[in-house]
This record gives sequence, C-alpha cells and structure tokens, in this order.
Amino acid sequence: MLKGRTALVTGSTSGIGQAIAEALAVAGADVMLNGFGEAKAIERQCAQLAEAHGVRVLYNGADLARGDEVEALVGDAQQRLGGPDILVNNAGIQYVAPVEDFPPEQWDRVLAINLTSNFRAIRAAVPEMRRRKWGRIVNIASAHGLIASINKTAYIAAKHGVVGLTKAVAVETAAAGITCNAICPGWVLTPLVEKQIHDRAREQSLSYEEMRARWTERVPSQAFVEPKQIAGLTVFLCSPAADQMTGTPLSIDGGWVAQ
Ligand code: NAD
Repeated sequence: MLKGRTALVTGSTSGIGQAIAEALAVAGADVMLNGFGEAKAIERQCAQLAEAHGVRVLYNGADLARGDEVEALVGDAQQRLGGPDILVNNAGIQYVAPVEDFPPEQWDRVLAINLTSNFRAIRAAVPEMRRRKWGRIVNIASAHGLIASINKTAYIAAKHGVVGLTKAVAVETAAAGITCNAICPGWVLTPLVEKQIHDRAREQSLSYEEMRARWTERVPSQAFVEPKQIAGLTVFLCSPAADQMTGTPLSIDGGWVAQ
C-alpha cells in the first residue's frame, strides 16, 4: 500500500516508534529511523528491516532537544530518501515530580522533545508535502493529551499541546492533500513506562511484577496497549480509508479516558 512512499519516524530505535517503523516498512514505505541507542544495534535494526521488507532504511541520530537538529533531520530525509511523505512525531520522554519540586530545566527538556520538536519537524516537512499534494502527519500524543494525572505537569502540558498543534496544522493543510492526526495511547509496556513501574515499586517496597500487575487496574480493559496496535493505527491513517480523517485525537487506551 505504501510502496514508493517515504517515512520519517522520530524515536524509532525503541518501543512504539520501532513498531511503527516496522509496520510502515511492511506496508512498503522507505523509512528513516531516528533515536538514541547502541550503534551496532541500530545498524542491525536497519539491515533487518531493509532485508525483510525490501525497502530502504536509513538512520539519523539527531537530538530532538535541539531545534536546529530537528530541521537538519527532515532535510537529511528529504535529501537521502525524498519527501518525507509520512512524518511520525513519536520521540518522547517523561519526568515525574510534584509541580512544586519540578525542575524548570526538566520542564524545558520535556517541552522541547515532546512538543517543540513536533512543530519544527512539521514546519520543515510541510512545504514538500504541499508540493507533492500528499502528506500524512501522525503525532504520538497520549491519553495524557486528553486528561491529567499527578506529578506529570510538563508531559501533560506538552501532550495537550500536541493535540492542539495537530488540530491547528490539520485545518491549515486539509485542502492540500495533507492530513494531521494525533494518536493518544494509554499504557504501553515500553522502557518509558518500565522505568516508572520500577521507580514506583521501589517507593512502595513492591516487586516490579506486583507493581506491573497493579499498573492497569484503573484501565477498563485491565491490559497494556501493544506497540504493534499503535503501529497498525498509524498505517491505517496513511491508507486511503483515512483520507478524510484530519485534526483528530484518536484514543487507543483500553477505555481509560472514556470513564
Ligand atoms: P521509549 O522510551 O521506548 O522510546 C522513546 C524513543 O525516543 C527512543 O527511540 C529514544 O531514543 C527516542 N528519544 C528520546 N529522546 C530523544 C531525543 N532527545 N532525540 C531523539 N530521540 C529521542 O518510549 P515509548 O513508550 O515508545 O514512547 C514513544 C512515544 O509514545 C512518546 O512520545 C511517548 O510520550 C508516547 N506514549 C507512550 C506511552 C507508554 O505508555 N509507553 C503512552 C502514551 C504515549
């Protein structure tokens, strides 16, 4: 379905982004990966994806905390792959502390990576999408883009910002063959959440397994979302069936925010 298309997926060396990059490659897109990690493991990831799915897979290690590197990343994708026709703003970090103890430099870092990098990547990618009269922008927001919970001020502000940015870009680009949507996952068992489970387990003198079992108690499905389910939704948003879907925050959370 996506043969001849090119995709840039930020934060695709781990977790949700890695699953999205794979699903886009399965659908036939050439992909540029981004994110941190061990050089050998990233080389392996590129080679395996390319070989298994017969697509081009490149890597750029831009640090999305730096605005100039975000623009250079999109430029590199443009130069080496073309496009990108599909931009998935997925990279994200978490920092947990009560608001009165929240370090301002952590606020700045969370906002830079989780929100400002989305804006800078979209800003850099839209002109070529307009020229091609086709573009798909998928921003990975969060259930925390729609509701709040304690000790995550920066993350929640950033993710609500991503939902707003998504709507704003959608209305500006809707007549140009470009869609821009946000995916709002609930809990997904990736390194980002595993760290929170470890920290909370330590605080409450529980084992990691006990805390993991408690983690989804307030989710109606009582289950974690799978990275491949978010990847499937991303591919759907790039399909003709979704041509008229734009500006939409899509929950995929086992019923969490429906309560
Ligand atoms: P993860 O920690 O497994 O992966 C994060 C990716 O972002 C990694 O590839 C990492 O290298 C990259 N990254 C981090 N900082 C970066 C930087 N400065 N520059 C470039 N790359 C950087 O996390 P994940 O759970 O897969 O999260 C992916 C996205 O999904 C994030 O935006 C996160 O907020 C969102 N999300 C996650 C969950 C969850 O429960 N895991 C729920 C809702 C939303």
